[in-house]
Amino acid sequence: MLLARRGLRVLVVDPLKRGSDTLSTHALMRGAVLQLHRWGLLAAIRSAGTPAIRKTTFHYGEEAVEVPIKARDGVDALYAPRRTVLDPVLVDAAVEAGAEVKHGVSVVDVLRDGDGRVRGAKIAGSDRSVIDVAADLVIGADGVRSRVARLVDAPLDYSVTHAATSIYGYWRGLPHDGTHWYYGVGASVGYIPTNDGETCVFTLISKDRFESDRLEGLEALHRNALEDVSSELAGGVEAGEQSSQLRAFAGMPGFLRRCVGPGWALVGDAGYFRDPITAHGITDALCEAELLARAVTRGGDDALTEYHTGRSERVRELLDVTDRIASMEWDMDEVKELHLKLSREMKAEVDVLRTLDRELMAEGL
Ligand SMILES: Cc1cc2nc3c(=O)[nH]c(=O)nc-3n(C[C@H](O)[C@H](O)[C@H](O)COP(=O)(O)OP(=O)(O)OC[C@H]3O[C@@H](n4cnc5c(N)ncnc54)[C@H](O)[C@@H]3O)c2cc1C
Repeated sequence: MLLARRGLRVLVVDPLKRGSDTLSTHALMRGAVLQLHRWGLLAAIRSAGTPAIRKTTFHYGEEAVEVPIKARDGVDALYAPRRTVLDPVLVDAAVEAGAEVKHGVSVVDVLRDGDGRVRGAKIAGSDRSVIDVAADLVIGADGVRSRVARLVDAPLDYSVTHAATSIYGYWRGLPHDGTHWYYGVGASVGYIPTNDGETCVFTLISKDRFESDRLEGLEALHRNALEDVSSELAGGVEAGEQSSQLRAFAGMPGFLRRCVGPGWALVGDAGYFRDPITAHGITDALCEAELLARAVTRGGDDALTEYHTGRSERVRELLDVTDRIASMEWDMDEVKELHLKLSREMKAEVDVLRTLDRELMAEGL
C-alpha cells in the first residue's frame, strides 16, 4: 500500500485467501493505531464494529494498575481488530493505491543475476503453475517462517533464548472494559475485547510447563493457568460462553535477521520475531513497513542499509525486555520494572512515527 501510494509498481502475493485468520491474538499498541490513523484506515477498523479500548489494566498479584488511554496525535483509543478484519482493510487499501494483489499464490524461489543480486521471484499458484516475475526488489513480508529469508540466506544477527507457550480462544458475555493483563507465578493471562461482542482470553505459560502438562489438553492448560493467576478472572471466564475452540502457539525464541541485501528486504516477523507475550508484533510490522517504504523510495542500497541498521538499533531493547518477560522467571517487582522499560520503548517508537509526519511535510508528500 505504502509503496503503491508512492507511485511504485507493486505485486503482492499470498498463498492464503483474502481475510484468512492467522495464529495470533491482535492487541494493537499505540504505534499501530497511530499508523492506521495516519494512513486513513482507522475509520474502516472502527466501522467494522471494533470496540474502542479506553483503558488498559495491569494486575500484579492483588494490585491493579489502571492506565487510561490518553488522546494524542489523533489517537484516543486502542483497538484489537480480528485479523479477519485488519488484514482485508490493509489489502483493500493496497489495491486502491494501485498494487496488484494475488491470493492463492506463493513465492517459491528468487531469481538472481550473474552477480547474485536478486532480480525477481518465481511464484506458484495453487494449480502449481510457476511463473518468473522480474522485480527491482523482492520484499519478504512472509512471517516468522519466512521462505524469502531462507531463499536469500538472510544471516541471523542476534537471538534470545526464552519462549512462552500461548493459548487463546474467544468468549461472549465478558465485560468490554478495556484490556486486562494479569501476572502471576509462572504465567501471564488476560483478555482483549474484539469484534462481534467477543473477547479474546489468552494464557501464556513457560514452554517447559507446556511440554510437561500438554497431555492434559489445551482446555485444562488454559483453565489451570487462569485459575493459578486469578481465580476471579477464571470465574468470570467460566461464567461466560466460549465461542471458539482454543488455539495454541508452542513458542519460539526471538531473533533479529539481517533485513536487507542486494535486491531483497524483509519486513515484519520475517526479519524480527519477539515472543507474543508483549503483544507487539503487529505494531512492529506496521512501523517497519513505513520505514522500509521510505528507504525504498529514497532509493539505493545505502538507504536500505540505513533501514536495516535503524531497525536493529530501535528494536533491540524491546526484544531483550520481551525475552526476559517470556522467561516467566520474574517476581512482581521485576515484571513491573520490565513494563516501565517497555513503555519507554513504545514511547520512543511513537516519537519516530511523529518524526515521519514532519519529514513527509518537508518532502511535500
Ligand atoms: C499466539 C500469538 C499471539 C500474538 N499476539 C499478538 C498481539 O496481541 N499483538 C500483536 O501486535 N502481535 C501479536 N502476535 C505477533 C503477530 O501475529 C505477528 O508479529 C504479526 O502477524 C507479524 O506480521 P507479518 O505480516 O510479519 O507476518 P504474518 O502476519 O505471519 O503474515 C505473513 C504472510 O505471509 C504469507 N506467506 C507465507 N509464506 C509465503 C510465501 N512463500 N509467499 C508469499 N506469501 C507467503 C502468509 O500467508 C501470511 O499472509 C502474536 C503472535 C502469536 C503467535
